[in-house]
Amino acid sequence: MRGLMQDWPLLIPSLIEHAARYHGDEEIVSRSVEGPIHRCTYRDVSLRAKRLANALQGLGARPGDRIATLAWNGYRHLELYFAVPGIGAVCHTVNPRLFDEQIVFIINHAGDRYLFLDLSFVPLVERIAPKLASVEGYVIMTDRDHMPESALANLLCYEELIGGHNADHEWPKLDERDAAGLCYTSGTTGDPKGALYSHRAILLHTFFQCSTYGLGISNRDTAMPVVPMFHANSWGIPHVATMCGARQIYPGPKVDGASLYELIEAERVTFAAGVPTVWLGLLEFLKQSGNRFTTLERALIGGSATPRSMIETLEAGYGVEVTHAWGMTEMTPVGTTGILKKKHLGLPDEARRDKKLHQGRAVYGVELKIVDEEGNELARDGKAAGRLLVRGPWIVSAYYNSDENERFSRDGWFDTGDVATLDEDGYMTITDRSKDVIKSGGEWISSIFLENTAMGHPGVAEAGAIAVPHPKWGERPLLVVVRAKGSKVGAQEILDYMRDKVAKWQLPDEVVFVDEIPHTATGKISKKTLRERFAEGGRACARGRT
Ligand code: AMP
Repeated sequence: MRGLMQDWPLLIPSLIEHAARYHGDEEIVSRSVEGPIHRCTYRDVSLRAKRLANALQGLGARPGDRIATLAWNGYRHLELYFAVPGIGAVCHTVNPRLFDEQIVFIINHAGDRYLFLDLSFVPLVERIAPKLASVEGYVIMTDRDHMPESALANLLCYEELIGGHNADHEWPKLDERDAAGLCYTSGTTGDPKGALYSHRAILLHTFFQCSTYGLGISNRDTAMPVVPMFHANSWGIPHVATMCGARQIYPGPKVDGASLYELIEAERVTFAAGVPTVWLGLLEFLKQSGNRFTTLERALIGGSATPRSMIETLEAGYGVEVTHAWGMTEMTPVGTTGILKKKHLGLPDEARRDKKLHQGRAVYGVELKIVDEEGNELARDGKAAGRLLVRGPWIVSAYYNSDENERFSRDGWFDTGDVATLDEDGYMTITDRSKDVIKSGGEWISSIFLENTAMGHPGVAEAGAIAVPHPKWGERPLLVVVRAKGSKVGAQEILDYMRDKVAKWQLPDEVVFVDEIPHTATGKISKKTLRERFAEGGRACARGRT
């Protein structure tokens, strides 16, 4: 017998319509690419998204077409987030931090018909435009006064484009399984792969993220997503904040510590989200300037492992509660969040922070398991480490337009490529990417554990651990360190500090110092670059350079 409930599709425009009706005056504040702070409301975004929807249809955009963006976090990008899927097209957010060739590959692979870009990316697009096979026109996300001189063909001005259309638009009743968003990940080997999100996946993810075990934000919050809207939907925050009518603050192109701090204070931000590198920048700024947060209550950190020292400094030093989360582009993207259980609340600070070092706890909607090399499920005892598999309604079932299938099992599990432990409460700890794990004498050494341990030393600003080949052990760990400002810490001192925290055989064989650690386009330590640079170990490399 079927239930007798109305069959309403879960569609993205319903989010902005709800916000416009019930939180119409709530502000969306953006640091614009043109410079000034821009203010508008949910009501404005809803009306402008409808004009944009009409404009897109005027340009000939049809359901299923891919419309690309190369843009920072801001209100126009938010309008695209609603208008493009709203007409049944697919909002393809492209990461501008990738290399030119990767961007060309991604846009051609997606077959994007139009490209919406911020002013900052005009030179980039001018460089690559001759190689873009499917793009019919370029829309610069600015007004007429700021339109640059450019030889780009079929160039349009965003404000003029939507200015030519009215806000009479009835969002069509699409199928909730229709594609709504597309985001490529370069996390795996080979060419970038596209995660194609459906309306349904995004809405279900948004419901979960709105809960206490998700972001836990509400209309009482002022939320600042620093994680880019071109990286895994900014962890879903634009959708979530809209669902609950939170005030939103978008930092635009300025994501250095000083600029973020200024915006947090000026706009009285209560919740902010970003990768550890962003928080490192903010904490460094606070340390140098002696400033403190006066309104920030909660920090969401993910994308890479959050070091213990960062949790401690934010919580004990600045009174900001940290939630550590884990996810992937392929997971819409959140898979686990580190909201503590009732039984952990009374723990002493140290033990509570131990819990927060985990990547978080399984949430309803995402199933997790760990398996060995043969695919046998491993114990959930917090000790056994294996390949982490996931499944659920907001996890990819295949890559867009790709034959790659080795990460998808027949019974519906997706292999994350992460190596992790799980405990009986569902707390998950990533010990490595499967390709970054250090295999010494047949045993695994967690590069993340070595990095986090080293970063507990006050003289260490950032650390990256990689495997270097070894004739006897196969591989041995090498630690690459950036010293904290003003620190003169030496290799021996770091190793002595680590000695009682890691097993003797896991201690790095070498510590080398660099001015900067290379990061990928999504803010993770680029182990690939480090491995290339230190292919023969630190000493050999230093010899080579002198
Ligand atoms: P992306 O698709 O770019 O978001 O990258 C996803 C990958 O980032 C995951 O498979 C993990 O390897 C890594 N990652 C994300 N969050 C965390 C975290 N909290 N700790 C450690 N690694 C993380």
